[in-house]
Amino acid sequence: MNSVPDNLLAIKNKIHKIAVECERDPNTIELIAVSKTKPVNQITEAINAGQLSFGENYVQEGVEKIHYFKQTMPDIPLIWHFIGPLQSNKTKLVAENFDWMHTIDRLKIAQRLNDQRPANMTKLNVLIQVNISQEASKSGVAPDQVVELVKQIVNLPNLSLRGLMAIPEIENDFDKQLKVFKQMQQLLQSLQTDYPFMKTLSIGMTGDMQAAIVAGSTMVRIGTAIFGARQYL
Ligand SMILES: *Cc1c(COP(=O)(O)O)cnc(C)c1O
Repeated sequence: MNSVPDNLLAIKNKIHKIAVECERDPNTIELIAVSKTKPVNQITEAINAGQLSFGENYVQEGVEKIHYFKQTMPDIPLIWHFIGPLQSNKTKLVAENFDWMHTIDRLKIAQRLNDQRPANMTKLNVLIQVNISQEASKSGVAPDQVVELVKQIVNLPNLSLRGLMAIPEIENDFDKQLKVFKQMQQLLQSLQTDYPFMKTLSIGMTGDMQAAIVAGSTMVRIGTAIFGARQYL
């Protein structure tokens, strides 16, 4: 495996190339480095290479890393994204530590995050996770239920609703990836008439980044291509 700085450079070049090819401004696509299961020394290498935005899936692990870097690099303005499934009994840790929360799929979670966001912190940026592949087993709101949840979340003063997120079913064919991501793009565009501040589309991982960017992704969440394959116990 190449070094983390080399991988970061390669993925940034790739984002740039894909954006130019589909006539998008590369600066409108933010790279979130997904560091779940990876040790702090690899994250440090990424930070030293200029990466500031990181995604974590597991609350406890994420909070430990956030505290570690607050201690060791207090002057570096890191931005932490929670991108995993969240049980309602863990919302407080997310509200107190993260900057973004990508996986809101029901009002109860949003309300708890709103109530638990500390007064001295800026609003928590949130995305609604859409179950775009309509799989019974995956989390996320059904596409036709999204508007209802938007209407409720915009009333919560400590949350800033920024857009939509999805994790489609794994699919290797580019055209099939693109078809699903375009449904996300259309869903977001349909919301923007009434909610113009919803600008973020969090789609695209290592295996489907190109299709996601073509379909308008503004945040790609990349783990494997930066930190290498993950090992699970
Ligand atoms: C793990 C994960 C990623 C990163 O996936 P890679 O295939 O390693 O790039 C992105 N988004 C979510 C929600 C994840 O859980």
